[in-house]
Amino acid sequence: MLLEGRVALITGASRGIGAAIARAFAAEGATLLLCARSEGVETLAGELEAANRPVRAMRGDVGDPTFARELITSARRQHGRLDVLVNNAGILRQGLIGMTTTDQMRELLNVNVLAVMMLTQYASRVMDSRCSPSIVNLASIAGTQGMEGVSAYAASKAAVVGYTLATAKELAPKGIRVNAIAPGFIDTDMVRGVAPDWYERRLQSIRMGRIGTPDDVAGVAVFLASDLARYVTAQVIGVDGGMMA
Ligand code: NAP
Repeated sequence: MLLEGRVALITGASRGIGAAIARAFAAEGATLLLCARSEGVETLAGELEAANRPVRAMRGDVGDPTFARELITSARRQHGRLDVLVNNAGILRQGLIGMTTTDQMRELLNVNVLAVMMLTQYASRVMDSRCSPSIVNLASIAGTQGMEGVSAYAASKAAVVGYTLATAKELAPKGIRVNAIAPGFIDTDMVRGVAPDWYERRLQSIRMGRIGTPDDVAGVAVFLASDLARYVTAQVIGVDGGMMA
């Protein structure tokens, strides 16, 4: 199995892409620490546990520095190590430039950017270069190409791209690989909540003619976390069905 013996922390694992990554990692033999704010993360952990997968769930807000630190110390206390960090938790707020409030901007930056930075800081201190450590960040096509109607979200995801590239360079000498996935339009609660005309326009722009599934993204996360990608760092991999081709 590709992730046998690896200890992985996946944020935002109560549903959507994070839950698919958790299932895919479990199938590849990883020991999991999952987090999210809602009880869905405990339900998923229970489901995986029932299938004899080593998994724990912690409920909390990744934007809270105390909780972010507790996630890392908990992985270390329980398992003595942390090999993979998947910074997946994220929020989307739709709104034209003039309609986006300062509170919405702060909330987006806190969850989508600051949490990624805090968790990367804490994780990189405990990761051991002998255990092929890997950090996978969820960016977005909105952050690499821009997207109207979600400018604050796009800014937060562009920050994730810049942070991924910079941390990859700084952490490469320590043997820690850092990459990002930039999904296009994936069928989760996040996009089900957007305005219907905006949804339809995104759908029409996908060359492969279908919306992506969380599993389409999870496969790339497994690859990046595993030794198959042992010489891959500082990359932003689009998973978008040719949306921007
Ligand atoms: P989703 O269905 O809305 O799920 C988001 C996950 O993040 C949930 O598990 C949610 O759990 C968790 N979360 C949100 N805020 C959190 C917080 N403050 N603390 C802890 N957990 C939090 O979204 P998704 O589509 O799976 O998106 C996953 C990632 O992919 C995000 O970073 C998103 O920006 C990115 N992405 C998605 C798409 C897409 O088309 N779906 C495209 C590009 C990028 P709780 O609510 O239980 O906390």
